Amino acid sequence: MLKVDKETFKKDYEEKFIEIHGKDLSDGTDYNKYEALASLTRDYVVKMWISTNKNYNFTGEKQVYYFSMEFLLGRLLGNALLNLGIRDVCKEALSDFNIDLNKLEALEQDQGLGNGGLGRLAACFLDSMASLNIPGHGCGIRYKYGFFEQKIINGMQIETQDDWLKNNNVWEIKKPDKAQIVKFGGQVNTISENGNLKFVHTGYEAVLAVPYDVPIIGYENNIVNNLRLWSAEPLYDEFDFSSFSRGEYLKALEYKNSVEAISQVLYPDDSVYEGKRLRLKQQYFFVSAGIQSIIRHFKVYGKAPLNDLDEKIAIHINDTHPTLAIPELMRILMDEEGYGWDEAWRITTNTMSYTNHTILSEALEKWPIDMFKKLLPRIYMIIEEINRRFCEELWNKYIGQWDKISKMAIIADGYVKMAHLAIVGSHSVNGVAKLHTEILKKQEMKDFYYFYPNKFNNKTNGITHRRWLIKANPQLTTLIKDTIGDSFIKHPTDMEAFERYASDKEVQQRLHEIKISNKKRFAEYLKEKQDISINPDSLFDVQVKRIHAYKRQILNCLRIMELYRKLIENPNLDIVPKTFIFAGKAAPGYHLAKKTIELINAVANKINNDPRVNEKIKVVFVENYKVSVAELIVPAADLSEQISTTTKEASGTSNMKFMMNGAVTIATLDGANIEIRDEVGDDNIIIFGLTEREVLDYYHKGGYSAWDMVNRDYRIKQVTEDTINGFYCSDKERFRAIYENLVTYNDEFFVLKDFDSYLKAQERADNLYKNFPKWQSMCAVNIAHSGIFSSDRTIQEYATGIWGSGYLYKNL
Ligand SMILES: *Cc1c(COP(=O)(O)O)cnc(C)c1O
Repeated sequence: MLKVDKETFKKDYEEKFIEIHGKDLSDGTDYNKYEALASLTRDYVVKMWISTNKNYNFTGEKQVYYFSMEFLLGRLLGNALLNLGIRDVCKEALSDFNIDLNKLEALEQDQGLGNGGLGRLAACFLDSMASLNIPGHGCGIRYKYGFFEQKIINGMQIETQDDWLKNNNVWEIKKPDKAQIVKFGGQVNTISENGNLKFVHTGYEAVLAVPYDVPIIGYENNIVNNLRLWSAEPLYDEFDFSSFSRGEYLKALEYKNSVEAISQVLYPDDSVYEGKRLRLKQQYFFVSAGIQSIIRHFKVYGKAPLNDLDEKIAIHINDTHPTLAIPELMRILMDEEGYGWDEAWRITTNTMSYTNHTILSEALEKWPIDMFKKLLPRIYMIIEEINRRFCEELWNKYIGQWDKISKMAIIADGYVKMAHLAIVGSHSVNGVAKLHTEILKKQEMKDFYYFYPNKFNNKTNGITHRRWLIKANPQLTTLIKDTIGDSFIKHPTDMEAFERYASDKEVQQRLHEIKISNKKRFAEYLKEKQDISINPDSLFDVQVKRIHAYKRQILNCLRIMELYRKLIENPNLDIVPKTFIFAGKAAPGYHLAKKTIELINAVANKINNDPRVNEKIKVVFVENYKVSVAELIVPAADLSEQISTTTKEASGTSNMKFMMNGAVTIATLDGANIEIRDEVGDDNIIIFGLTEREVLDYYHKGGYSAWDMVNRDYRIKQVTEDTINGFYCSDKERFRAIYENLVTYNDEFFVLKDFDSYLKAQERADNLYKNFPKWQSMCAVNIAHSGIFSSDRTIQEYATGIWGSGYLYKNL
């Protein structure tokens, strides 16, 4: 572990400041001071990074590569200091200079290379792999522009570019000597050489993939793993510069632009299939570069012949986006390394594993054959052969069952189906929560499950407690340490011992005070950022996540509208004063999601300006939800809204963050909410809504009528009409799309069906909150049982159950 005492740190820091800024510390701006601190921290890290690498090369230990289109890391400085074990020393040292560490940390840009849960999961996994001594590395794209920044103007979402690289990014190191070439387009010719077929790729466009490495620091264990992000650059060797004079200049420029477009921007859509050629190009780009660099490294340091690759390397495919890793590895093994099909296939399938993240059919990736073939001719040939062999196996098993076979084929109906390729080409397919995995096996992928029963398994998601508890909620961390000691930091399930304090008066009082203090911290942020004041003594009722119909922000909004109507009618209604907090981005092309943001803001505008209800309710929409904002909101929440239509949220991870910070959950029995319920028991969570059975029956047999709901329940009639009768907005047409979607189009997410049950659940929440000891005890039980949702548990399961890697595996 890094040993730095306060005086050494102070000396190092002052020297570093002078070195990079050429002036004295006392003349520096806060941002100068942040830069010096980040840069010094990086220096400490680099030494461990090099020695970790040397050690991996020396031992030849199995390496895991986690391929993901998204890594939503957030800020790095605070967690780097925490994991290095020097955050306290650093804090004291800086305070000797009159510098507030928290303030410097808050100046850092988020690394926002992801949309939401999927990208954040990848980030939590990297943290856990490093902290558990697992040689596990990330592989992704260094987007020039991360996820867009959201502003709310006139109640509407406005998107602006996230120019996160405009200031020097101290957390990356460019490695030009490790660049790879990725080839697009062109033709593949088959020639015979000494009786063997050879595939010669010509006329392609070459793109240079340049890696930028980001250190991933383990918790107090001297481990620094690697996140490798690829950037696309033009390859000028390919270009005849003398041709510029012959008017080819424009062509060169065109080439440059088309190359740079590849790593220009992260697609801002969440679980919506985006049929863009550029997206396919992005996917092949990082996957090809990543696999090539793994093989190149393996050949130098691997300490084993290439046929043992699967014993030394595990490659994980996070959702279908990196699925082309499968045919790409096949291509390299066959075309470049000379293996025959069968051996290449054995190595490839043993190396690859795949996580499915969603059953939403619009999110299942597929590519038109024509487009695919033109862009990736050799990869297409390989997929065709994988498909041919797979269909042959199917024919042998399901003689004459053409329907089934064409349903399962990888290439069918004019498309290449990525999920099918991922399943066929991997040795493991996992879902992300128990219910989700069961639905995969019994519904969505049942044909594949029957064909490959042993491939399917569950790995319930998790979150790193180092960021989401220790870093985000230092006061709660202190309370837990004071009561049960600090073993939970290395063994998060030890937090169960905290349950003994659930009814301890003093602990309850401290929990309450900590919550108030976190609420004040968030209130200050909101005041500064959006000039909105909120009351820390009110109940903070929070729904923060991507805006999506299945997540049902509309359901939450409608019940606030109902409560508002009730309060106008009866101003003396005895309710707990509440602040309703929303945050989340809508994909720019997702009309209904953007309208949802508008409706929430219109409701906020009306309610917040109505003196009749101001003492009781307030609605706020927090701009630009991202990891660093989540770190402020989550510890401040009293009530966590996890209200997706049952079966639709594969797992959810913010549900775990909230419980770990002592919020009580109000939830449908969906995703990991079920497992949270199983952990805390029915008395410590508030459950409502349709069951899995009921939802699936509606989908399969029909029978849901939104009109019936409107006609049967006057409250539903009232709130739905309030969206189009001018009550919230003089333009009655503004929210017509929401109304039509709920009522006329018989909303596929059953918002109105769950409305009554949700209202009753909210009433239960209100009554529980009024009972101070009961509520505090619920908070404590939630905290105590949150340890199992640490991503350390999840990663141990991946390591032993899928990858066959890591310390635990070696000691089995
Ligand atoms: C955890 C997290 C998410 C995922 O939230 P869900 O409620 O599980 O969808 C999304 N965005 C950010 C910034 C997060 O930190």
